[in-house]
Amino acid sequence: MRRVLRVEGRTVVVTGAAGGIGLAMVRALAAEGAKVVAVDRSEPQEDPGAEFRLLDVTEPGQWRALAADLGRVDGLVNNAGVTWRARIDEVRPQDMARVHAVNVTGPLLGMQHLAPVMPPGSSIVNVGSLAALTAHYPVAYTTSKWALRGLSATACLEYGPRGIRVNTVHPGFIETPMTGSAPEAFRTASIAETPLGRTGTPAEIAALVVFLISPESSYITGAEIPVDGGHSAHGGVKSLSDALREPAT
Ligand code: NAD
Repeated sequence: MRRVLRVEGRTVVVTGAAGGIGLAMVRALAAEGAKVVAVDRSEPQEDPGAEFRLLDVTEPGQWRALAADLGRVDGLVNNAGVTWRARIDEVRPQDMARVHAVNVTGPLLGMQHLAPVMPPGSSIVNVGSLAALTAHYPVAYTTSKWALRGLSATACLEYGPRGIRVNTVHPGFIETPMTGSAPEAFRTASIAETPLGRTGTPAEIAALVVFLISPESSYITGAEIPVDGGHSAHGGVKSLSDALREPAT
């Protein structure tokens, strides 16, 4: 007997789908039967195994055209994001504006344009960050991801009565082109703060997104779920615990 696919018959839009975490989501959703529409402002680095369209999440006209073309959408994953590693004393207003345009206004525009074509039972997933749960030195990125939490909570409130769920996933350090561009010290320090003692993979984020898009999570909305190997759980005191641990004999 054929296995029941978890998101069969659902049309799901994934942004930032040309590589990294987005590409893994496209593949995982397609493997569970979704009709995935992968969008990104850049061409994909590999065959995504799904329909691909060029779309810049900061452009309302492009969202409008996508909604009109698709007519009905059951899932939206606002995954596109950019970082900018300037610290608080160096960051410029234009850096703040550029990062917030992609990381906050992008998801807002996606929800504004696609929610009207989403029937009850639909699901939206916003991709936050460990940086949305803690202080993190790249201030434009950190503030944008904290703002996305507020946007997600508001969207949960607004769309709940229409039967549309909105949840947020907070990845820790995941091996992608974004983290590949960070200094090696960032990886080493992140692993030291992670109870599971390793970095994560895009597939480990995608697995949760499949669940949140599927009807298996039908009563979950407004949730924020870290996928970070336990990094956010210890509130910055893992180093204290490690320092006081008796050396193994
Ligand atoms: P990535 O840089 O590998 O991929 C991001 C994708 O977004 C790229 O393909 C890029 O072209 C696309 N994009 C950027 N601006 C866009 C725009 N205006 N319109 C459409 N597409 C755009 O990054 P990633 O590591 O795969 O990150 C995916 C998401 O996960 C981001 O929101 C990021 O902030 C978040 N995140 C990543 C990590 C990590 O460790 N990699 C940790 C926490 C959160």
